[in-house]
Amino acid sequence: MANHKTHHEDCDVLVVGGGMAGTGAAFEARHWGRDLKIICVEKANIDRSGAVAQGLYAINCYMGMQWGENQPEDHVRYARNDLMGMVREDLGYDMARHVDSTVHMFDEWGLPMMKNEENGRYLREGKWQIMIHGESYKPIVAEAAKKSADKIYNRIMVTHLLMDEEKENRIGGAVGFNMRTGDFHIFRAKTVIVAAGGASHIFKPRAVGEGMGRTWYAPWSNGSAYALPIAVGAKMTQMENRIVLCRFKDGYGPVGAYFLHLKTYTQNANGENYEKKWYDQTKELVGEYIDHHPTPTCLRNHAFIQETIAGGGPIHMVTTEAFQDPHLETVGWENFLGMTVGQAVVWASQNIDPKYTNPELTTSEPYVMGSHATCSGAWVSGPEDLSPPEYFWGYNRMLTVDGLFGAGDTVGGSAHKFSSGSFTEGRLAAKAAVKYIQDQKAEGIKVTDKQCDDFKEAVFKPLETYTVAQNEITGGTVSPSYISPIQGLQRLQRIMDEYVGGIATNYMTNANMLRRGLELLAWLEEDLEKVGAEDLHQLMRAWELKHRAITSQCVTEHTMFREETRWPGYYYRGDHMKLDDDNWHCLTVSRRDPKTGKFTMEKVPVYHIVDKNEKKKAS
Ligand SMILES: Cc1cc2nc3c(=O)[nH]c(=O)nc-3n(C[C@H](O)[C@H](O)[C@H](O)COP(=O)(O)OP(=O)(O)OC[C@H]3O[C@@H](n4cnc5c(N)ncnc54)[C@H](O)[C@@H]3O)c2cc1C
Repeated sequence: MANHKTHHEDCDVLVVGGGMAGTGAAFEARHWGRDLKIICVEKANIDRSGAVAQGLYAINCYMGMQWGENQPEDHVRYARNDLMGMVREDLGYDMARHVDSTVHMFDEWGLPMMKNEENGRYLREGKWQIMIHGESYKPIVAEAAKKSADKIYNRIMVTHLLMDEEKENRIGGAVGFNMRTGDFHIFRAKTVIVAAGGASHIFKPRAVGEGMGRTWYAPWSNGSAYALPIAVGAKMTQMENRIVLCRFKDGYGPVGAYFLHLKTYTQNANGENYEKKWYDQTKELVGEYIDHHPTPTCLRNHAFIQETIAGGGPIHMVTTEAFQDPHLETVGWENFLGMTVGQAVVWASQNIDPKYTNPELTTSEPYVMGSHATCSGAWVSGPEDLSPPEYFWGYNRMLTVDGLFGAGDTVGGSAHKFSSGSFTEGRLAAKAAVKYIQDQKAEGIKVTDKQCDDFKEAVFKPLETYTVAQNEITGGTVSPSYISPIQGLQRLQRIMDEYVGGIATNYMTNANMLRRGLELLAWLEEDLEKVGAEDLHQLMRAWELKHRAITSQCVTEHTMFREETRWPGYYYRGDHMKLDDDNWHCLTVSRRDPKTGKFTMEKVPVYHIVDKNEKKKAS
């Protein structure tokens, strides 16, 4: 402990995580809070951090309102349809009405946008997507954050949120450690915006052994966005709504541009359109949702999974037709070079030239996230002009803990935000956080040294544990008195995979399996008190694991609570195989009691704000 120097920083707005949402928050906080002290703390380095680190080839959320291409209402209808009805329409609408202004700023800041040569507009890849040369996307938005914040702290992993000791349920800041120096950092703050990304590696990945770390979602997204708020008793929503992706096999290369721009399509090993084979069976499960357009993502996965189980695999993407056109062939390759170089390398290693060989597709292990085609995350207040009373408690994007805000993957209920929508949501959260301070809601916050010292002891405990326990190592890394982060991670992944609906069971689970999963997770939690870290990197791994474990508990509790199969293709409740609109046309909300660690669950109505006269099904 004595070896770890302590640094103090007091600020007004503390942004945890400098990815897309975090950079948006830092930028906007400065706009509204000219004289405020704004700090951003990032686990990696914001120039290349988060899910956009390697670049993107498309901005997936752009309305094009200036040209009458789409309106926010259209986006709400789209997200609602894709999520089988379960979205917070107030949040989705709010993001959609502001997202174009975000994209226009990216353009001004120098992000190379592709243009349609015929009409001069941004080049559409699909109805919502526009194409970019996006290798430098992240450094460009990072620059805006760097110019806005008073200070950016890189290489600091935030491990805990601090709570005000004067007023109950009010935020007081955060603590973390520097992964290079081993120093402890205390950030006392009037408001905290959590923007720490989604969660990969909580379910066992397809790629293990040598390939471990190859996942679709960023491997460094470790669920801090959920664990930090859950640990202080903030409510979460739709955590059962994990995502499974259909992607190119082994490299997880993107398929969006292939489907939308190159007009490729999928087929089974016999060259058949397998999706229509599963139409009747899917209709049995979900009713009229299968007739919606576009077909909800989970239902397309469902056909893929069923076809594979039935022996129709491998499933291929038909590229050999589109790639005969030299322009489309170039786009196909550039799509990887701009964001997933690894896919091109995988194809080279497997002797696949998509001009002559149709590459294989796969369905991924599940991930937890709030910004893509699912909406797990924190239960937040919406904007005052749109939200019904149950969705509104004063400040936009504020969690159920006062002064604690969220954006991007952190926020639940608002799917299909993607990179641009996450940045936009960061802006919205920051604007509200500044107003919270200006309204004097953060006066008199008290965070004692004792609270910070207790966390300091907890943060470095894995190093202490290892120092002692290494003396008892019997062979390799086997010791009776500690477990390593990788051992703990693999144990977590197996529990989630085998009991909570991972690839081992073709995404199938049921109440008995979930109950057992919860027992095993509880014992894992106990054993994680004995996680040992031999150096600072392993200390980061230890805390990533602890955050993944608490996120996993929440996912399992939610999966247990929703007694239906709302999203076949993302997961199945074998004991409730059908979608059940009569009982479950609602959002699920949880809260973990910080003192007892027990979760309580509730149903909250889904309010259909767009076309509300047509959709009166709130439970
Ligand atoms: C493979 C892939 C492809 C995608 N393709 C597209 C696309 O084509 N178009 C598109 O628009 N969107 C795409 N997305 C989605 C987009 O990347 C996300 O929606 C967006 O990045 C989410 O923003 P965020 O800020 O919530 O998370 P992130 O951008 O991931 O940022 C989270 C940040 O928090 C940091 N962090 C995490 N934990 C901690 C901690 N404990 N302490 C401090 N810092 C922490 C991380 O290092 C990271 O910098 C894609 C995502 C992936 C993974």
